[in-house]
Amino acid sequence: MYKQIVLLGNAQDAGRPQIGCNQKCCTDARLDLNLSRMPVCLGLKGESFGLVEVTRRVGNQIFLLGNPEISEVWLSHAHLGHIEGLGQFGKEAFNSKNIKLRCSSLVVDYVMKHPIWKKLIERGNFTFDKFQTDRIVPIEVPHRAQDFDTHAFYFKGENNKILFLPDHDSWEKTLDFVGYENPMEWFNSLGCTVVLLDGTFWHSDELKGRVQSNVPHPPVRETLDLIGKRREGNPRIVFIHLNHTNPLHYPDSEEYLELINLGWEVGEEGMEFNL
Ligand SMILES: [Zn+2]
Ligand SMILES: [Zn+2]
Repeated sequence: MYKQIVLLGNAQDAGRPQIGCNQKCCTDARLDLNLSRMPVCLGLKGESFGLVEVTRRVGNQIFLLGNPEISEVWLSHAHLGHIEGLGQFGKEAFNSKNIKLRCSSLVVDYVMKHPIWKKLIERGNFTFDKFQTDRIVPIEVPHRAQDFDTHAFYFKGENNKILFLPDHDSWEKTLDFVGYENPMEWFNSLGCTVVLLDGTFWHSDELKGRVQSNVPHPPVRETLDLIGKRREGNPRIVFIHLNHTNPLHYPDSEEYLELINLGWEVGEEGMEFNL
Protein backbone atom coordinates (compact mmCIF):
# COMPACT_ATOMS: atom_id res chain seq x y z
CA MET A 1 0.00 0.00 0.00
CA TYR A 2 1.39 3.39 -0.97
CA LYS A 3 1.74 6.07 1.69
CA GLN A 4 2.67 9.00 -0.49
CA ILE A 5 2.53 10.42 -4.00
CA VAL A 6 5.44 12.56 -5.17
CA LEU A 7 5.02 14.89 -8.15
CA LEU A 8 8.10 14.15 -10.25
CA GLY A 9 7.35 16.53 -13.13
CA ASN A 10 4.89 19.37 -13.71
CA ALA A 11 5.30 20.03 -17.44
CA GLN A 12 3.37 18.93 -20.51
CA ASP A 13 4.66 15.90 -22.44
CA ALA A 14 7.61 17.65 -24.10
CA GLY A 15 8.86 19.41 -20.96
CA ARG A 16 10.50 22.80 -20.77
CA PRO A 17 12.52 23.88 -22.71
CA GLN A 18 10.73 22.36 -25.69
CA ILE A 19 12.57 21.34 -28.84
CA GLY A 20 12.43 24.01 -31.53
CA CYS A 21 11.00 26.79 -29.34
CA ASN A 22 12.94 30.05 -29.63
CA GLN A 23 10.59 32.09 -27.47
CA LYS A 24 11.63 33.44 -24.09
CA CYS A 25 9.96 30.51 -22.28
CA CYS A 26 12.52 28.12 -23.68
CA THR A 27 15.56 30.31 -24.38
CA ASP A 28 15.45 31.23 -20.65
CA ALA A 29 15.13 27.62 -19.61
CA ARG A 30 18.05 26.58 -21.82
CA LEU A 31 20.32 29.14 -20.18
CA ASP A 32 19.11 28.61 -16.63
CA LEU A 33 18.70 24.94 -15.77
CA ASN A 34 16.70 25.92 -12.68
CA LEU A 35 13.90 26.85 -15.07
CA SER A 36 13.86 23.51 -16.87
CA ARG A 37 10.88 21.28 -16.05
CA MET A 38 10.27 17.56 -16.52
CA PRO A 39 7.07 16.11 -18.05
CA VAL A 40 4.33 14.97 -15.69
CA CYS A 41 5.05 11.81 -13.71
CA LEU A 42 4.02 10.63 -10.25
CA GLY A 43 6.18 8.61 -7.91
CA LEU A 44 4.30 6.17 -5.67
CA LYS A 45 6.03 5.63 -2.38
CA GLY A 46 5.46 3.03 0.33
CA GLU A 47 6.95 -0.36 1.15
CA SER A 48 7.43 -0.63 -2.62
CA PHE A 49 7.67 2.02 -5.32
CA GLY A 50 5.80 2.72 -8.52
CA LEU A 51 5.50 5.31 -11.25
CA VAL A 52 2.54 6.80 -13.05
CA GLU A 53 3.67 7.71 -16.62
CA VAL A 54 7.14 7.00 -18.00
CA THR A 55 8.62 10.11 -19.56
CA ARG A 56 11.87 10.64 -21.40
CA ARG A 57 13.28 12.00 -18.10
CA VAL A 58 12.44 8.79 -16.22
CA GLY A 59 16.03 8.33 -14.97
CA ASN A 60 16.04 11.76 -13.32
CA GLN A 61 12.54 11.22 -12.01
CA ILE A 62 13.40 7.92 -10.31
CA PHE A 63 16.45 9.67 -8.86
CA LEU A 64 14.20 12.42 -7.48
CA LEU A 65 12.19 9.65 -5.82
CA GLY A 66 15.37 8.44 -4.07
CA ASN A 67 16.47 5.95 -6.75
CA PRO A 68 14.38 3.01 -5.48
CA GLU A 69 13.62 -0.20 -7.31
CA ILE A 70 10.40 0.32 -9.28
CA SER A 71 7.92 -2.55 -9.14
CA GLU A 72 5.06 -1.17 -11.18
CA VAL A 73 4.22 1.43 -13.79
CA TRP A 74 0.77 2.86 -14.51
CA LEU A 75 -0.05 4.58 -17.78
CA SER A 76 -2.96 6.99 -18.20
CA HIS A 77 -2.77 6.75 -22.00
CA ALA A 78 -0.15 6.30 -24.69
CA HIS A 79 0.64 9.74 -26.05
CA LEU A 80 4.37 9.79 -26.61
CA GLY A 81 5.34 12.07 -23.73
CA HIS A 82 3.64 9.75 -21.25
CA ILE A 83 5.30 6.54 -22.42
CA GLU A 84 8.54 7.38 -24.23
CA GLY A 85 10.67 6.43 -21.22
CA LEU A 86 9.57 2.79 -21.46
CA GLY A 87 12.61 2.03 -23.62
CA GLN A 88 14.92 2.98 -20.74
CA PHE A 89 13.85 -0.23 -18.99
CA GLY A 90 14.99 -2.35 -21.94
CA LYS A 91 18.11 -4.38 -22.65
CA GLU A 92 20.13 -1.39 -23.88
CA ALA A 93 19.64 0.44 -20.60
CA PHE A 94 18.26 -0.72 -17.24
CA ASN A 95 17.13 -4.17 -18.41
CA SER A 96 14.47 -4.51 -15.73
CA LYS A 97 12.75 -7.80 -14.90
CA ASN A 98 8.98 -8.11 -14.84
CA ILE A 99 7.99 -4.64 -13.78
CA LYS A 100 4.20 -4.67 -13.72
CA LEU A 101 2.80 -2.53 -16.51
CA ARG A 102 -0.72 -1.44 -15.71
CA CYS A 103 -2.64 0.12 -18.58
CA SER A 104 -5.98 -0.25 -20.34
CA SER A 105 -6.49 -3.05 -22.84
CA LEU A 106 -6.45 -0.54 -25.71
CA VAL A 107 -3.08 0.76 -24.52
CA VAL A 108 -1.86 -2.85 -24.25
CA ASP A 109 -2.85 -3.36 -27.90
CA TYR A 110 -1.11 -0.14 -28.88
CA VAL A 111 2.12 -1.08 -27.07
CA MET A 112 2.07 -4.53 -28.67
CA LYS A 113 1.72 -3.00 -32.15
CA HIS A 114 4.92 -1.04 -31.69
CA PRO A 115 8.04 -3.02 -32.61
CA ILE A 116 10.27 -1.41 -29.98
CA TRP A 117 7.85 -1.51 -27.04
CA LYS A 118 6.66 -4.98 -27.95
CA LYS A 119 10.23 -6.22 -27.38
CA LEU A 120 10.13 -4.94 -23.79
CA ILE A 121 7.24 -7.30 -23.16
CA GLU A 122 8.73 -10.22 -25.09
CA ARG A 123 11.99 -9.88 -23.19
CA GLY A 124 10.21 -9.71 -19.83
CA ASN A 125 11.30 -6.19 -18.92
CA PHE A 126 7.61 -5.52 -18.31
CA THR A 127 4.67 -7.81 -17.66
CA PHE A 128 1.13 -6.56 -18.17
CA ASP A 129 -0.94 -6.62 -15.01
CA LYS A 130 -4.40 -5.58 -13.81
CA PHE A 131 -5.44 -2.02 -14.53
CA GLN A 132 -7.11 -1.49 -11.17
CA THR A 133 -6.34 -2.23 -7.55
CA ASP A 134 -8.26 -1.65 -4.31
CA ARG A 135 -6.56 1.70 -3.92
CA ILE A 136 -5.91 2.87 -7.48
CA VAL A 137 -8.90 3.21 -9.76
CA PRO A 138 -8.77 4.41 -13.38
CA ILE A 139 -11.57 6.69 -14.59
CA GLU A 140 -12.00 7.04 -18.34
CA VAL A 141 -12.00 10.58 -19.74
CA PRO A 142 -12.40 11.85 -23.34
CA HIS A 143 -9.01 12.72 -24.84
CA ARG A 144 -8.37 12.34 -28.57
CA ALA A 145 -9.22 8.66 -28.53
CA GLN A 146 -8.24 7.58 -32.06
CA ASP A 147 -5.75 4.85 -31.12
CA PHE A 148 -6.43 4.20 -27.46
CA ASP A 149 -8.41 5.48 -24.49
CA THR A 150 -7.31 7.84 -21.70
CA HIS A 151 -7.88 7.53 -17.97
CA ALA A 152 -7.54 9.70 -14.92
CA PHE A 153 -6.43 7.91 -11.75
CA TYR A 154 -8.24 8.04 -8.45
CA PHE A 155 -6.05 7.18 -5.44
CA LYS A 156 -8.01 6.07 -2.39
CA GLY A 157 -5.74 6.72 0.55
CA GLU A 158 -6.66 6.54 4.22
CA ASN A 159 -6.00 10.25 4.67
CA ASN A 160 -6.52 11.66 1.21
CA LYS A 161 -8.43 10.88 -1.94
CA ILE A 162 -6.37 12.13 -4.84
CA LEU A 163 -7.51 12.52 -8.43
CA PHE A 164 -4.80 12.72 -11.12
CA LEU A 165 -6.14 14.14 -14.39
CA PRO A 166 -3.25 15.36 -16.57
CA ASP A 167 -4.95 15.24 -19.99
CA HIS A 168 -8.52 15.68 -21.18
CA ASP A 169 -10.04 17.47 -24.16
CA SER A 170 -12.61 19.80 -22.60
CA TRP A 171 -14.80 20.22 -19.55
CA GLU A 172 -17.85 19.98 -21.75
CA LYS A 173 -16.92 16.48 -22.95
CA THR A 174 -15.52 15.25 -19.64
CA LEU A 175 -18.46 16.43 -17.52
CA ASP A 176 -20.91 15.02 -20.01
CA PHE A 177 -19.00 11.72 -19.95
CA VAL A 178 -18.85 11.40 -16.15
CA GLY A 179 -22.34 12.82 -15.67
CA TYR A 180 -21.81 16.00 -13.63
CA GLU A 181 -22.66 19.66 -14.17
CA ASN A 182 -19.39 21.21 -13.07
CA PRO A 183 -15.90 20.10 -12.07
CA MET A 184 -16.37 20.72 -8.33
CA GLU A 185 -19.52 18.61 -8.26
CA TRP A 186 -17.57 15.76 -9.85
CA PHE A 187 -14.59 16.16 -7.46
CA ASN A 188 -16.94 16.24 -4.46
CA SER A 189 -18.77 13.14 -5.64
CA LEU A 190 -15.44 11.33 -5.48
CA GLY A 191 -14.64 12.79 -2.07
CA CYS A 192 -11.41 14.26 -3.45
CA THR A 193 -9.15 16.14 -1.07
CA VAL A 194 -6.51 16.80 -3.73
CA VAL A 195 -6.86 17.11 -7.50
CA LEU A 196 -3.78 17.15 -9.73
CA LEU A 197 -5.35 18.80 -12.72
CA ASP A 198 -4.69 19.45 -16.42
CA GLY A 199 -3.29 22.98 -16.57
CA THR A 200 -1.66 22.65 -20.01
CA PHE A 201 -2.58 26.09 -21.35
CA TRP A 202 -3.46 29.26 -19.56
CA HIS A 203 -5.47 30.69 -22.42
CA SER A 204 -7.04 29.27 -25.56
CA ASP A 205 -4.93 31.39 -27.94
CA GLU A 206 -1.63 30.52 -26.28
CA LEU A 207 -0.26 28.54 -29.21
CA LYS A 208 -0.15 31.36 -31.70
CA GLY A 209 1.53 29.45 -34.51
CA ARG A 210 -0.50 26.27 -34.16
CA VAL A 211 -4.16 25.52 -34.39
CA GLN A 212 -5.33 25.07 -30.83
CA SER A 213 -7.90 22.45 -31.74
CA ASN A 214 -5.00 20.13 -32.64
CA VAL A 215 -3.98 20.10 -28.99
CA PRO A 216 -7.22 20.28 -27.05
CA HIS A 217 -7.09 20.85 -23.31
CA PRO A 218 -9.39 23.09 -21.27
CA PRO A 219 -7.48 26.32 -20.63
CA VAL A 220 -6.81 27.10 -16.95
CA ARG A 221 -8.61 30.40 -17.50
CA GLU A 222 -11.82 28.47 -18.26
CA THR A 223 -11.28 26.03 -15.37
CA LEU A 224 -10.94 28.96 -12.95
CA ASP A 225 -14.20 30.41 -14.22
CA LEU A 226 -15.88 27.07 -13.52
CA ILE A 227 -14.44 26.46 -10.06
CA GLY A 228 -14.27 30.06 -8.81
CA LYS A 229 -12.62 30.87 -5.52
CA ARG A 230 -11.69 28.06 -3.16
CA ARG A 231 -14.32 27.58 -0.47
CA GLU A 232 -14.31 25.61 2.75
CA GLY A 233 -14.59 21.93 2.01
CA ASN A 234 -13.19 22.24 -1.52
CA PRO A 235 -10.25 20.02 -2.39
CA ARG A 236 -6.79 21.42 -3.06
CA ILE A 237 -6.54 21.83 -6.83
CA VAL A 238 -2.98 21.70 -8.10
CA PHE A 239 -2.42 22.54 -11.76
CA ILE A 240 0.08 20.36 -13.60
CA HIS A 241 1.04 19.36 -17.18
CA LEU A 242 2.02 22.96 -17.99
CA ASN A 243 2.97 23.65 -21.59
CA HIS A 244 6.26 25.52 -22.06
CA THR A 245 4.23 28.57 -23.15
CA ASN A 246 2.15 28.66 -19.95
CA PRO A 247 2.75 31.81 -17.83
CA LEU A 248 2.12 29.67 -14.71
CA HIS A 249 5.76 28.61 -15.07
CA TYR A 250 6.57 32.07 -13.67
CA PRO A 251 5.61 32.56 -10.00
CA ASP A 252 5.79 36.33 -10.47
CA SER A 253 3.35 36.40 -13.42
CA GLU A 254 -0.08 38.02 -13.11
CA GLU A 255 -1.68 34.71 -14.03
CA TYR A 256 0.13 32.83 -11.28
CA LEU A 257 -0.86 35.43 -8.70
CA GLU A 258 -4.47 35.37 -9.83
CA LEU A 259 -4.60 31.59 -9.43
CA ILE A 260 -2.96 31.66 -5.99
CA ASN A 261 -5.27 34.45 -4.85
CA LEU A 262 -8.25 32.27 -5.74
CA GLY A 263 -6.84 29.65 -3.36
CA TRP A 264 -5.49 27.16 -5.90
CA GLU A 265 -1.96 25.87 -6.51
CA VAL A 266 0.57 25.24 -9.25
CA GLY A 267 2.39 21.92 -9.06
CA GLU A 268 6.12 21.85 -8.42
CA GLU A 269 8.58 19.03 -8.86
CA GLY A 270 9.12 17.24 -5.59
CA MET A 271 5.71 18.15 -4.08
CA GLU A 272 4.51 15.36 -1.77
CA PHE A 273 0.95 14.30 -1.02
CA ASN A 274 0.14 11.85 1.75
CA LEU A 275 -2.30 9.10 0.94
ZN1 LIG B 1 0.10 14.79 -21.83
ZN1 LIG C 1 8.95 27.59 -25.27
